[in-house]
Amino acid sequence: MIYADYNATAPMRPEARDAVLAALALGAANPSSVHQSGRAARAVVEKARGQIGAAIGSRTADILFTSGGTESLALAIQGAVLALDDKATLIVSAIEHEAASKAAAYAGVPVETAYVGADGRVDLADLGARLAAWDAGLKGTPILVLMLANNETGILQPVSEAAALVRGAGGLTVCDAVQAFGKVQVNAALLGADYIALSAHKIGGPQGVGALWHRAGAPLKALQYGGGQERGLRSGTENVAGIAGFGAAAEAAVRDLPKYAALAKPRDAMEARLKAEGGVTVIGEGSPRLAGTSNFARPGFRAETQVMALDLAGVCVSAGSACSSGKVKRSLVLLAMGADDALAESAIRTSFGWDTKPEDFERVGDAWLEAARRTVLKETV
Ligand code: PLP
Repeated sequence: MIYADYNATAPMRPEARDAVLAALALGAANPSSVHQSGRAARAVVEKARGQIGAAIGSRTADILFTSGGTESLALAIQGAVLALDDKATLIVSAIEHEAASKAAAYAGVPVETAYVGADGRVDLADLGARLAAWDAGLKGTPILVLMLANNETGILQPVSEAAALVRGAGGLTVCDAVQAFGKVQVNAALLGADYIALSAHKIGGPQGVGALWHRAGAPLKALQYGGGQERGLRSGTENVAGIAGFGAAAEAAVRDLPKYAALAKPRDAMEARLKAEGGVTVIGEGSPRLAGTSNFARPGFRAETQVMALDLAGVCVSAGSACSSGKVKRSLVLLAMGADDALAESAIRTSFGWDTKPEDFERVGDAWLEAARRTVLKETV
């Protein structure tokens, strides 16, 4: 089997598995307990906090552990709105993951859209003009919600430039770095965002654990109450083993950043072949992209047919569009980029990562071309 769906979830790194198993071996250990067993668990959590802090160049005190990217985004978006007493307007990019766009939709304040161009990148000129004319008396604090790397296309967003515009208007920026973290350098200070959402399972850590970094002093209120863990901002007994695995995965992913960047070369070679022999369009080809993501479309060859044909050939990929309850919807990301229906219905996402072998790209290309020859290409080639 060839696994080419790292943006859905990545296989667990050996360093993460070892850390999870070591934490489980602690036995009964609640990090809030004051006895020695509890202190051992606390040490595991704080070690991981240090590893995440080192990975993003931030103070460890500004990192909260959560159950994953979805919760981190909800806490940042809704927790900021709550702290501002609803005197805020959210500006959500048109290509956000639903974990961000739906958290914004249910935040109880007005939501505006930050548009993207055909290159898949947020339109900074439009955003800047709107922020320059911002009427804070009428609309409250602007809160921009902008991801660093898109999960479908891998296209990187100009977050630091956008955050500077927002800051100039007295606003705040929430950055979903779930797909970017561990694949490109994410430095909290350089990014300029006020909140950064991270997730473990996209970088080879366990599923069900994530983190929210927030700038010291950035407005934030808890959404859930209880034992007051994580400085009262995220009550609930910590997922000690998951957190241990997250810390180890983050350290390994940052160490391996050059290896990840090197995926661009075989990825580009695969795309060149599929364009030449398969007539595909590569989405976001000219934009800065994650090295391990390739989203391509072949009008007339439906995404779900491609995914099934590749699955039969032992290759795991995703439809380029959001897939819920087994039904493939047209990708909102591609539509936001101005793609027509034919392109949006025929886009698939292949994504590679830390355990990908160079020959995997060739085998995905072989399998795709074989499937295409049996279906669409027989009519045209
Ligand atoms: N944001 C992006 C861009 C994602 O790709 C995902 C995962 O699909 C999430 C947020 C949600 O993260 P999690 O699965 O950890 O809740």
